[in-house]
Amino acid sequence: MMRWFGRAYGAPYEADCEHIPTPVGVACLWCSEPIAEGDDGVTAGVLDTATMTAPREVPQHYECHLRAIVGGVMHQLGRCTCCGGPDGLAPDPEGMTKREGARAAVALYDLLRGAPDRELARLMAEQHLRDLGRL
Ligand SMILES: [Zn+2]
Ligand SMILES: [Zn+2]
Repeated sequence: MMRWFGRAYGAPYEADCEHIPTPVGVACLWCSEPIAEGDDGVTAGVLDTATMTAPREVPQHYECHLRAIVGGVMHQLGRCTCCGGPDGLAPDPEGMTKREGARAAVALYDLLRGAPDRELARLMAEQHLRDLGRL
């Protein structure tokens, strides 16, 4: 069962799942950076396949959890290998840490979702990545 910590974002699990104290110092399942005081996120049971014992509860940053759902930046732009994109790119932009990539993925997802012209927003995001030298 999923549990969550930090601030509420109006996500569906918040009403159904238990809110717990922030697991400060525990490594995030996705980016491996330790959870810090003030971080927001969720925990989930991860089965240890070596021992097949009871699942361990492992935290993830909120943005690392969301990135797993919405996909990395290049994936959302349809340019990564798994999308058959022309560039053969990894799902996350070149030169970013996993956490930075997750933050960028959530920002892009929010941008595309809220944009009146999704295609224009997509092109602007691509230009921004080009300006940063990441595309
Ligand atoms: Zn993380
Ligand atoms: Zn993809």
